[in-house]
Amino acid sequence: MSAADPIIRIESVSKSFGPLEVLHGVDLEVFPGEVVCIIGPSGSGKSTLLRCVNHLERPDGGIVRLGGEAVGVRESRGQLVEIPPADLARQRTEIGMVFQSFNLFGHMTVLENIIEAPIQVLGTPRAEAQTHAKQLLQWVRLEGKESAYPRQLSGGQQQRAAIARALAMRPKVMLFDEPTSALDPETVGEVLSVMRRLASEGLTMIVVTHEIEFAREVADRVVFMDDGRIVEIGAADQVLDAPREDRTRRFLSRIL
Ligand code: ADP
Ligand code: MG
Repeated sequence: MSAADPIIRIESVSKSFGPLEVLHGVDLEVFPGEVVCIIGPSGSGKSTLLRCVNHLERPDGGIVRLGGEAVGVRESRGQLVEIPPADLARQRTEIGMVFQSFNLFGHMTVLENIIEAPIQVLGTPRAEAQTHAKQLLQWVRLEGKESAYPRQLSGGQQQRAAIARALAMRPKVMLFDEPTSALDPETVGEVLSVMRRLASEGLTMIVVTHEIEFAREVADRVVFMDDGRIVEIGAADQVLDAPREDRTRRFLSRIL
């Protein structure tokens, strides 16, 4: 792989749920260090697309590649077959994901949440995992919350802990699915600020968001999706401030 190769390649990915086709052959390449924000109306397939990237959903057609390697499937006699769960688990360690609803384990402390996967999946020694977890907690400004349980934290604190948990696997790419949509307005900023710092550290990120200001400031490229298709893609200021497509313009005028 050369530096100019995409780290993520989404190649004509389609997906249906029963009779409902929610992705109609989506193509998207994301390059190392790039921040791509995906915007679009509710139901347009944004979450499904992200979930196809780490194979939480299996595409019906097309393929996702991470660093050139097919995610979740391999070719066998001209057919795509699922890879063994252990191989998929290894691939998923390289793709961190943060969801809209805080999905920390409620029965574990913040520290336990963060060290669980490094110990169980990567085989990191406990002491080393704890040291790394404490550094990450400092980084997301949650020092002192190691022993707290998720229910004792605000939504913004939980989401920052979820980001720390994803980072503990040292992922190559981070996927964010509307990470601030379920937050009280006063805690949105603290989560966006952590994401902004991640972007400036050069982490590759795909972010589904309605935070247009954030996208304008942080995204290298913005994707506008509607009805299971990428309608428009381009530099953030082009798509957000001078959209070429009517549908993009109409969407932006509704939400701004
Ligand atoms: P977005 O994230 O843009 O709001 P989604 O990807 O969540 O859109 O959903 C796209 C469409 O697929 C919606 O119509 C939604 O109801 C449908 N959908 C998503 N997941 C499922 C599922 N597991 N089963 C059936 N329909 C689904
Ligand atoms: Mg969604």
